[in-house]
Amino acid sequence: MNCPYCGGQESTVIDSRGLDEVVRRRRKCLACNARFTTYERIQPHDIFIIKKDGRREEFSRDKLLSGIHKACEKRPLPTGAIDKFVEAIEAELYKAGKSEVSSSYIGDLVMEGLRKLDHIAYIRFASVYREFADIGDLKQEVDSLAIRRELISANQLPLPSSEAVDSLVGRKRR
Ligand SMILES: [Zn+2]
Repeated sequence: MNCPYCGGQESTVIDSRGLDEVVRRRRKCLACNARFTTYERIQPHDIFIIKKDGRREEFSRDKLLSGIHKACEKRPLPTGAIDKFVEAIEAELYKAGKSEVSSSYIGDLVMEGLRKLDHIAYIRFASVYREFADIGDLKQEVDSLAIRRELISANQLPLPSSEAVDSLVGRKRR
């Protein structure tokens, strides 16, 4: 935890406050006496991601964050929504208490969350993550979204008519 002013490596904690998964600490640099705040993440243990090809890689919050940022680019999301989302995924991973998780497990968590957050971001992420073989797969994914009747807000794709949904799911109307 280097001082942001002088780069000094020693500091004392003058105040400490827990905010869920994060501890906020007021620190004082022992070299230059500057005060600064750190937000320290509580990491109960390291988590390794098992990739599709069997490689292991240490879980990286930054990597996850940048992937989600990419999917959410230029989407009208509330400030802090992405950070909150990443935090929720992280919490879920640590809660599971495993030291190894598959990349598809994390991918599914992200898909699940993005579907609730923003459908365009969801489709973008899904098209990379699931490596849609052709546009037909993508169409199927959009259709299944529509069927879930989650396309409500103005920022999302339009909701199909209830007749269209009925015919998609093969339900008979009276
Ligand atoms: Zn300093």
